Amino acid sequence: KFDREDKIDYVFKVVATGDSAVGKTQILSRFTKNSFCFDSKSTIGVEFQTRTLTIKGKVIKAQIWDTAGQERYRAVTSAYYRGALGALVVYDITKRRTFDNVARWVDELRAYADTSIVIMLIGNKADLVDLREVPTEDAVEFAENKGLFFSETSALSGDNVESAFFQLLEEIHGIVS
Ligand code: GDP
Repeated sequence: KFDREDKIDYVFKVVATGDSAVGKTQILSRFTKNSFCFDSKSTIGVEFQTRTLTIKGKVIKAQIWDTAGQERYRAVTSAYYRGALGALVVYDITKRRTFDNVARWVDELRAYADTSIVIMLIGNKADLVDLREVPTEDAVEFAENKGLFFSETSALSGDNVESAFFQLLEEIHGIVS
């Protein structure tokens, strides 16, 4: 019997971080289920979602972890980061504060995660153009200074979600293979 599990070449753990309500859970559902849930939450206890895809001829299972609301209490533990090969640090382009806090999330990754972790900065809710508080250039500059990849996404419309994940996963693949 054909079993896809037998064919998996790599499992990549990716963690999502960033302030509460920036859209982490919705980005994950967009990527793993191509869905957006208007009355989501609160994701208490949900650990990870997966999607299996092919990169450069290899079957990769992306296991993407969600903070499950713990970020609200700054109770994200070192166990959450353990073994992660990639990270999404998400902010909301309509909330300056969530961008100002990005440095703290990156510091936490640097402290707890593996030194080779690939980090993608994500400015989410890009569909809310009229409410923008964070100029794209500010994020580009920050990402360059910190050595992060960067993308603006909309979990609502789906814009750039797929490409951001593929860029991250391709980069991880380049490191592990
Ligand atoms: P989390 O706490 O970071 O996991 O954030 P959620 O995924 O629960 O999203 C928080 C709120 O923002 C919810 O009301 C979502 O419907 C909304 N949201 C998430 N992503 C987007 C987006 O790309 N565009 C818009 N307009 N709203 C979004």
